[in-house]
Amino acid sequence: MTHWTKHRGNKLQSKLPDVGTTIFTVMSKMAADAGALNLSQGYPDFDCPELLLDLVSKHLRDGKNQYPPMAGIPELRQEIATKINSLYHFDADPEGGITITSGATEALFDAVQAVVSPGDEVIIFDPAYDSYEPAVTLAGARTVRLPLLLPDYRLDWERLEGAINSHTRLIIINTPNNPCGALLREEDLNQLAALIRERDILLLSDEVYEHMVYDGVGHVSVLSHPELSERSFAVFSFGKTYHATGWKLAYCVANAQLTAEFRKVHQFVTFTTTSFLQYAIAEFMACCPQHATELPSFYQAKRDRLCQLLEPSRFRFTPAAGTYFQLLDYSAISAMDDMAFVEWLTREQGVAAIPLTPFYRRAPGSRIIRLCFCKDDATLERAADILCKL
Ligand code: PMP
Ligand code: GLN
Repeated sequence: MTHWTKHRGNKLQSKLPDVGTTIFTVMSKMAADAGALNLSQGYPDFDCPELLLDLVSKHLRDGKNQYPPMAGIPELRQEIATKINSLYHFDADPEGGITITSGATEALFDAVQAVVSPGDEVIIFDPAYDSYEPAVTLAGARTVRLPLLLPDYRLDWERLEGAINSHTRLIIINTPNNPCGALLREEDLNQLAALIRERDILLLSDEVYEHMVYDGVGHVSVLSHPELSERSFAVFSFGKTYHATGWKLAYCVANAQLTAEFRKVHQFVTFTTTSFLQYAIAEFMACCPQHATELPSFYQAKRDRLCQLLEPSRFRFTPAAGTYFQLLDYSAISAMDDMAFVEWLTREQGVAAIPLTPFYRRAPGSRIIRLCFCKDDATLERAADILCKL
């Protein structure tokens, strides 16, 4: 026993007393233990493009194995600047406005630590991705959680206006939204801009599913909004775009002042991020820009396949507008709560899914689960076969 723990009466005060192991880890382990098809945690069961794998080997063998620059290699930051200029018509400065991070998780954490202080309030919308609130808590601030409006998960403008006060420092938005697949539209960004115009409020925009937007609708980035881009951190993830979630490579785009503060945190959280992966992605982006722009149709086909397969089932659903997640209402099948239902589904039926309750502070008690469809068609077919029998 250390002197320190003795001193505290043997009791370690948790800084995150309400936090357990993430639902994604819990469900993937349950799926592995049960030998179930894993449609829970969001990761593809197919590999990255062959050329990208070759480029990784090339740069690994080519000596790109020492610390890259703290903000990321210039070649990759330049490619990102070119991409966001072409997609979002935003002039990001590769030198002082783009930072490569170890996953979007790190970028989100760094942005919060950079600008949020004790006594501040941060507004997030439920259902919310699970890493937001702990980052705010560790910054010593309070999270204000506002429910999105059912059934289509829209922002509740009245509640948002009522929640904003002199302590509000940051609003975190996520479009396309994990877990519900909802999108923010240009009108939403205009309304948000009007609400915070006269206030000292920043935005953190989680856009990791930027290329998973369906039915001919384009992704609306905060970067394409001249007013909001000036007060936003926009976060994107290579893990999603290149089917490589395990590489943990992402980036944050923000103006020079916000980026300077962001990097003060980044340099002491990870300092920098895996070198040869950065070189490989930079080269891949230069030679295959179509990979990203073809992703919506690639994933829309998967969404449509899953929805078509589930048509005869007793699940009720509206096809996801974005992300690679599909929500399913199972109230015609079971009265179990969602935690019990996914456990039964995984252990007894052999399909793992994610319950929605962990994305809420106060879950609405609806019987909804999330299925991940970034899977081979054969996996989707096997899962649907089981789900249609319930
Ligand atoms: N934000 C959202 C909404 C996500 O779904 C995820 C990941 N799965 C992340 C952030 C984290 O991304 P990364 O794996 O790049 O850390
Ligand atoms: N974002 C992924 C999901 O929603 C999981 C990421 C993680 O496991 N941390 O499934």
